[in-house]
Amino acid sequence: MRAGDLVIGVDVGGTKVAAGVVEARDGRAVIGARARGAVDPATNEGGIASILAVVDEAVATLDAGQRARLAGIGVACAGNVDHVTGTLRRAANMAWRDLGIAAALRDRHGVEARVENDVNAAAWGLATFPGDAPGGSPGASGWPANPTLAYLVVGTGIGAGVVDGGRILRGRNGGAGELGHLPGIAGAVEAAAGQVPCVCGARGCLEAVASGPALGAAARARAVAGAAPRLLDRAGGDASRIDAASVTGAAADGDPVALELLAREGRFVAMAIAVAFRAYDPHRIVIGGGVVAAGQVVVDAIHAGIADLAVRVPHRLRDSRDWLEVQASPDDGGIIGAGALVLFPPA
Ligand SMILES: [Zn+2]
Repeated sequence: MRAGDLVIGVDVGGTKVAAGVVEARDGRAVIGARARGAVDPATNEGGIASILAVVDEAVATLDAGQRARLAGIGVACAGNVDHVTGTLRRAANMAWRDLGIAAALRDRHGVEARVENDVNAAAWGLATFPGDAPGGSPGASGWPANPTLAYLVVGTGIGAGVVDGGRILRGRNGGAGELGHLPGIAGAVEAAAGQVPCVCGARGCLEAVASGPALGAAARARAVAGAAPRLLDRAGGDASRIDAASVTGAAADGDPVALELLAREGRFVAMAIAVAFRAYDPHRIVIGGGVVAAGQVVVDAIHAGIADLAVRVPHRLRDSRDWLEVQASPDDGGIIGAGALVLFPPA
């Protein structure tokens, strides 16, 4: 624990900046006052200004006692981050280049500031605040004090954050854990999916077939082919309005086509989980992201996908309901993780 025991956690995403006052209480992260605002992706100056505006609003909620306890400001940011300098090198859909976030926050507020990739930060938060994870707390059921944790995100993209031995696994360029872009992995589940080109240039990436947008695209293709009448009905007859949320909603209502699409999604995600087991041998594996957070019907499909894989992967992948964790606070994972970076800095 740092000198202070209270932190501003900031989550910078593609469209918004969200911040919260974070404290550690009884091994849990508690978020007090919050602030949020739009992000300006067009220029570095606008980007820094949009982040500072939200942080200013969060800092303004602190009373004198809280201000004295402020240990610093943590930032979880989508994109490629230089955690040493607290700089965002670049991010998809943003014009920002080498955005000096930590320096700007230190200059303005005179406290420590740390910046980390959002998935890595969320993984660090999950490791720091295990919450209601199966097994309860470190040491209670076979975890050491610093467990190896793999956090798999399935949302707009697919990726993983890995914590091992009290450190965040980043690799040379911060690209460790990019499981969504292992070429050909989708083809291991479904031959045709192995040929689908990805935005990264490779073929058969999971992200190209199992991200939220890819799930929506698969559903639209079914509807256009006349093979998804209930999905089309839900979209008012306009196939272009079908997205991943349409699929999860229809599946929850028992639509067989949506359930089949989710069963396929579950097999893809299960493959990523199997890869994470082989690559990292984690004590804990946590799934999250927008597709997972859409509902129990998705989680059920992932469990079914893991059961399907059990003949080809280690025996520990069986009975996944006993060990697979679903992120408990998906909307706050970035804020909590950002706070954890400052309250309990990684080695
Ligand atoms: Zn790719």
